[in-house]
Amino acid sequence: LLEMNHIKKSFDGVSVLKDVSLSVKEGQVLSIIGSSGSGKSTLLRCATMLETIDSGEIIYMGEKAAYTDDKGKCVYAPPRELKKIKNYFGLVFQNFNLFPHYSVIKNITDPLINVQKKDKEEAMEIGRKLLEKMGLPDKENAYPFQLSGGQQQRVSIARALALNPAVLFFDEPTSALDPELTGEILKVIKDLAAEKMTMVIVTHEMSFARDVSDYIIFLDKGVIEEEGTPDEVINNPRNERTRAFLSRFE
Ligand code: ATP
Ligand code: MG
Repeated sequence: LLEMNHIKKSFDGVSVLKDVSLSVKEGQVLSIIGSSGSGKSTLLRCATMLETIDSGEIIYMGEKAAYTDDKGKCVYAPPRELKKIKNYFGLVFQNFNLFPHYSVIKNITDPLINVQKKDKEEAMEIGRKLLEKMGLPDKENAYPFQLSGGQQQRVSIARALALNPAVLFFDEPTSALDPELTGEILKVIKDLAAEKMTMVIVTHEMSFARDVSDYIIFLDKGVIEEEGTPDEVINNPRNERTRAFLSRFE
């Protein structure tokens, strides 16, 4: 479903991703772990084209979003093609990114109506169904400031799901939440995994990553130092750096 090959990215001459490759198959959950500054968010931002890569290849559903030509120049697909590819994924941020002056339901239905051009009735139906699924059926007319952080994050997950993405990216979806609210979001993500939603998750929640992931990548200073199943990476890490990183969570 998604392939990223030999991704390189620098900021002002400082190399942040150094030849990173990954692939995600349909129905799989990939987690990315690593210290602060290791390049996890940059990798997600490159995957979701919020950031351009310097070289490498990004392929969604067999369609090339970006590739590097034989002169070493990175080439992105033309705008119309990219627009289509951007519909394949959704993104859930650490800080929810809801529109504060929109009601909950409007936050969810607005992209459906204005981007996907669905009619209002249909958008409302999709929105209400997802609020129900997120355990927030009575919050449709509330505003984000009236909700807890966990509830806001569930609304932003509903908003992403409404667009029916093939893959959903999460960048530390619980790191802005109090510990007691973290659990409710991890539960929502686990439920999505059980439904075989394809997901790529950056997280600092190690036991969650172990439970929910099919595959884990440990990123360190822009390099994949270790990767494999949760059992391999979390329970039996071979790499000294992975061990040192994980020991901080014990
Ligand atoms: P955290 O766990 O703290 O979120 P991270 O693994 O997500 O860390 P990134 O945000 O990807 O790390 O940052 C990796 C490196 O790239 C950092 O050194 C950061 O300062 C740098 N960086 C990220 N974005 C930019 C930018 N837009 N301009 C310049 N440097 C950047
Ligand atoms: Mg980050």
